[in-house]
Amino acid sequence: MKKMMIKSLRRNQKNLMSYINQDRFIDHCAVFGTYNIKDAVYSNILGLHALQHRGQEASGIFYFQDNGQFSFKKGIGKVSEVYAGFDHEQIENPKVTNGHNRYSTFGGSEEKNIQPLYAQINKDIISISHNGNITNAHYLKQILLEDGCIFQSDMDTEVILHLIAKSKETNIIEKIQDALRKVEGAYSLIITYNDEIIAIRDPNGIRPLVLGKKDSGYVISSETCGLDIINSTFEREINPGEIFLINDKGTRSFSIANKVDKKFCIFEYIYFARPDSNFLNQNVYEARINIGKELYLEKKENNSDIVIPVPDSGLASAIGYSEASGIPFQLGIIRNHYVGRSFIQPKQELRDLAVKMKHNVNLKLLKGKSITLIDDSIVRGTTSKKIVSLLKNAGVKEIHFKVASPAIIGSCYYGVDTPNEDNLIANIKNLEEIKNYLEVDSLQYLSLNGLYKAVNGNSGYCDACFTKNYPVPLVDQTLKKQQKEQIKLV
Ligand code: SF4
Repeated sequence: MKKMMIKSLRRNQKNLMSYINQDRFIDHCAVFGTYNIKDAVYSNILGLHALQHRGQEASGIFYFQDNGQFSFKKGIGKVSEVYAGFDHEQIENPKVTNGHNRYSTFGGSEEKNIQPLYAQINKDIISISHNGNITNAHYLKQILLEDGCIFQSDMDTEVILHLIAKSKETNIIEKIQDALRKVEGAYSLIITYNDEIIAIRDPNGIRPLVLGKKDSGYVISSETCGLDIINSTFEREINPGEIFLINDKGTRSFSIANKVDKKFCIFEYIYFARPDSNFLNQNVYEARINIGKELYLEKKENNSDIVIPVPDSGLASAIGYSEASGIPFQLGIIRNHYVGRSFIQPKQELRDLAVKMKHNVNLKLLKGKSITLIDDSIVRGTTSKKIVSLLKNAGVKEIHFKVASPAIIGSCYYGVDTPNEDNLIANIKNLEEIKNYLEVDSLQYLSLNGLYKAVNGNSGYCDACFTKNYPVPLVDQTLKKQQKEQIKLV
């Protein structure tokens, strides 16, 4: 009974959060692993804590000790909830640990879908953590099912595990190569194989993965902020298409495929990553400041009294916009950081108030002012509309809405929870229609060129949600479409 109540409360909490967050692209997952460092389990918990923004539904740590013993701690909830009371000091320090924070982009959020997944293949113990999304997972799963494989979870990651287990190759690296050459999509993986650890990034390097050093060992993390929290020094990024093996003999790099085409997710700079992380020698906070500056330079409008961000998503870009324009920066909207702790599910009539649970306006500051309002992106437009309405009710005279990214016209299939294309406002309305829908005085998006300038970029990025130029084939999507067409014909 108690279990059922907790489940129902969690479901309500998730519903509330997804209602409040429905106008965002939602972060995906985080991976964190250690090899031969002191206090390995505790370090992994801290690493996952630093990476909490990439997944809040569930967390798990697998660990393998020198004596061949292995175990697992996992649970639904945030890192602070899952590992509360976990007596990690009683565990003999493991040689390798493999940790994961989950936000489900494939499969539900039940216990069976908590990563890392692990299995015994002959006498060997393998665990796997995955950030990303396999775009031909349904296709491969169907083949594996027909071949007699039994799946324990709903996750695309399990497809990789089965492919490794079924490979006829002789050693683990060749088995992994054999498996991953069949897989399409985005994957940053940490695999442990007995007391060895392997960091892997797909040939496009869509999701991040970095390598650090600590003590006489190594740390692997989705972002550099995960290295910082345990005082591990940044070594380098795992390269697109690289399989990086760490074991008693040292380290070695292998390739997944001959062809590597770097397409790092440009949205990591806009919203997903923590501002104190760095990718490709670019600090995320600085990139967001640059984005704000570019946003101003593209139109050079000085028609407002103050610049205010939608917190926290528009914060750094608003600072950049203010610096470039000379218009004073102010905090006109205050964010309640504790909203996730509420278990109240919004009823229909209270839905408009739900946005107030997260954002409230600073009435005294805003009354009678013309404002430049900055947010990182507009997805459906529903939350932006509610924020505009809050500001108008506070007596704001004019609202000039600036968006610190280009218009989102495509869904993401590479490990990010996004609405269907038909629900993306910029895919179904033009600029004037969006401006009218939001009821703002003017509306400006950053151009794609401006975004590339801001991140010191060239062509090595995925920008498919702004262009629909998907760098990796969407096999499952194409098959789904074909099936729908066939059904129509019948
Ligand atoms: S489609 Fe957008 S969110 Fe997805 S990987 Fe590409 S840039 Fe990132």
